[in-house]
Amino acid sequence: MALIVQKYGGTSVGSVSRIEAVADTIIKTRKQGHQVVVVVSAMSGETSRLIDLAHQIDSRPSARELDVLSTAGEQVAASLLAMAIIKRGYSAISLLADQIKITTDNHFGRARIEHIDSHRLEDEIEQGHIAIVAGFQGRDIENNITSLGRGGTDTTAVAVAVALKADECQIYTDVEGVYTTDPRIVPEARLMEVVTFDEMLELASLGAKVLHIRCVEYAGLHKIPLRVLSSFKPGKGTLITYEGSQMTTQAVSGIAANKDEAIITIVGAPNSPMLAADILSPVGEAGIEVDMIVQNIKHDDSVDFTFTVHRIDFEQAKAIAATIVTKIDAKTVQSNQNVAKISVVGVGMKSHSGVASTMFQALGREGINLQLIATSEIKISVVVEERYLELSVRALHSAFNLDTPV
Ligand code: ASP
Ligand code: MG
Repeated sequence: MALIVQKYGGTSVGSVSRIEAVADTIIKTRKQGHQVVVVVSAMSGETSRLIDLAHQIDSRPSARELDVLSTAGEQVAASLLAMAIIKRGYSAISLLADQIKITTDNHFGRARIEHIDSHRLEDEIEQGHIAIVAGFQGRDIENNITSLGRGGTDTTAVAVAVALKADECQIYTDVEGVYTTDPRIVPEARLMEVVTFDEMLELASLGAKVLHIRCVEYAGLHKIPLRVLSSFKPGKGTLITYEGSQMTTQAVSGIAANKDEAIITIVGAPNSPMLAADILSPVGEAGIEVDMIVQNIKHDDSVDFTFTVHRIDFEQAKAIAATIVTKIDAKTVQSNQNVAKISVVGVGMKSHSGVASTMFQALGREGINLQLIATSEIKISVVVEERYLELSVRALHSAFNLDTPV
């Protein structure tokens, strides 16, 4: 018998018939002999509808009142789901954030959970009740209602799982799990059975649509196994777990791609120990996040310094780069915002050699030029022209044998 926390997202409880279907799934888990605690989101579209109402009253509504309003949808879904379970002859009880003392800081609209008192939930479990917790909401120390930010129910689920030391936290959603790459780009993309927390964080561009990244970090920190699965289609989904708990036979687990990158090069800068600091300090002071960095010293001792930024920061970063060029007496700035970052990710890389050469050969065969390369222990990323994004992903997916089931 395991203790399982199940989270159901908005589409999973999007209608009365969906709520009935979810009630059946919960009872099925119970019949398998497990204890279940449920965390539920508002019915799909509801949170947005409520926030929209607020904006019809005031374009800048009171942050406190907005949280009272926006968290109301979870109360509705939790009680309806409890009713559906009770109707089926099982005892269920809906619980709001104050009833299980989900304490947060006081940042309305983006509060962070600080503590959950597990006593009430443990009592309910002991008495054989199925607790249905309203996600997304908390209470600050002054007992104001707070919300965790859009998509925050994932985080409630993990926090409840941590507080109860659950065996697994299952995130039920409208996709079947996490894929080896975006199935819209590669139809052969496979559902991953297992992926590690570190890989999942690196594969954020695949997973971000599925999971709140903060919830992955939190579950990883507390070593709570997390499973993503569909509430529409039966299946085991994808288990996100920590390294060492699985055997890695493959070097590469998945391929991520994103277009949220732009590249800037300061060409022909005089070499100096302060160069990187001189260039990156003004960029950082402007609040611009830098992703990849490469510094090249040429035979005439001048330096080409390249970095990438989020695409929304491109124009501002380019303007800053232009002022730096004058200040440090470099030659010019080159930039390109039509680039994409492609990453191959896998904990297996630590024990397999030749990953980089396989990657560069596959891209080279397709005639794709690499503008930048960066590596970490479990990831190799390259920046390529954006028009090569799909071709690159397809070439790599097949080069690393991800098309064929293992
Ligand atoms: N109902 C909230 C939202 O729509 C929280 C969640 O679904 O995770 O953002
Ligand atoms: Mg969500």
